[in-house]
Amino acid sequence: MPISEFDIIARYFAARPARRPDVALGIGDDAAVLRVPPGCELVLAVDTLVSGVHFPEDTPPEDIGYKALAVNLSDLAAMGAEPAWLSLALTLPEPDEAWLAGFAAGLFELADAHGMALVGGDTTRGPLSVSVQVAGLVPAGGALRRAGARPGDLVCVTGTLGDAALGLQVAQGRLDRGVEDNDFLRKRLDRPTPRVAAGQALRERAHAGIDISDGLGADLGHLLEAGGVGARLDLSRLPLSPAFERYRAGLADPDAALSLALGGGDDYELCLSLSPEVFEALPALDVALTRVGVIEERPGLRCVDGAGRECTAVPGGYRHFAG
Ligand code: ADP
Ligand code: MG
Repeated sequence: MPISEFDIIARYFAARPARRPDVALGIGDDAAVLRVPPGCELVLAVDTLVSGVHFPEDTPPEDIGYKALAVNLSDLAAMGAEPAWLSLALTLPEPDEAWLAGFAAGLFELADAHGMALVGGDTTRGPLSVSVQVAGLVPAGGALRRAGARPGDLVCVTGTLGDAALGLQVAQGRLDRGVEDNDFLRKRLDRPTPRVAAGQALRERAHAGIDISDGLGADLGHLLEAGGVGARLDLSRLPLSPAFERYRAGLADPDAALSLALGGGDDYELCLSLSPEVFEALPALDVALTRVGVIEERPGLRCVDGAGRECTAVPGGYRHFAG
């Protein structure tokens, strides 16, 4: 007999008691009841991963569980929120217990690392799709927003860009960079590191922030639009990993790689707008923060090369439903 919906919930998701004292009622009732501390606001985000669209069909279940939460944590990080709770809507073609065990292991690995409690969800049958909703906390009025960048601010990004875009090519068998770089790039695709601590540390210091899920070019564009400003981006400053640099060095036209760093998806780094004074006096972060440009009054995104020459084509990010 195949395992029932209720056994799936009991065995893989409800077995872990929520260890947060702010969970008044977790899995098992019609809805969860959660205690928001006085003086705090609730920050909510939800993201869906569809098999074949957001991850290759053969992605290990551990990585799917991990990534489904990671992409949501990245949204909380961009708001400067402290992660607290999550719920999970899972649609499965069939109740495959080995798959479920792997998926839950990946999901809880990241949830535990951030002290989050799974407090509810929904389990249905259909083509594989995973929706995770996360909730986090910020001091009232303190969330970091896309709007707020000021002319003269520095545009800064965490970590490195473009690795996941190369990782996707590796996953699709279109690129082979040798075992070590393949592993690194694939890991950057399947197990992105949401910049949760950096987001919280920069919440009060940055004027604006966004997470980079569709490529820096596209996501910085949203930040500029929200703030009614423009920016000059120095392409020679884009932070690139050693694996990405090695790939780039092997190309006939090394600049072609920059469109991946600018327009490739799935980086899950943060892009922030900070005053130069604040940037100079930042506390130590758990990830590198690189200045890549400057906010200007004139709307639009202008790219320059290392010599300050303006580049014409600004590659856009990945878009669903694009014509
Ligand atoms: P209802 O029919 O009232 O929506 P369900 O039978 O769907 O309730 O779910 C029963 C309980 O199990 C609820 O508390 C729900 O939040 C929880 N739940 C269902 N699916 C999941 C899941 N995949 N992960 C975590 N909790 C779940
Ligand atoms: Mg239900």
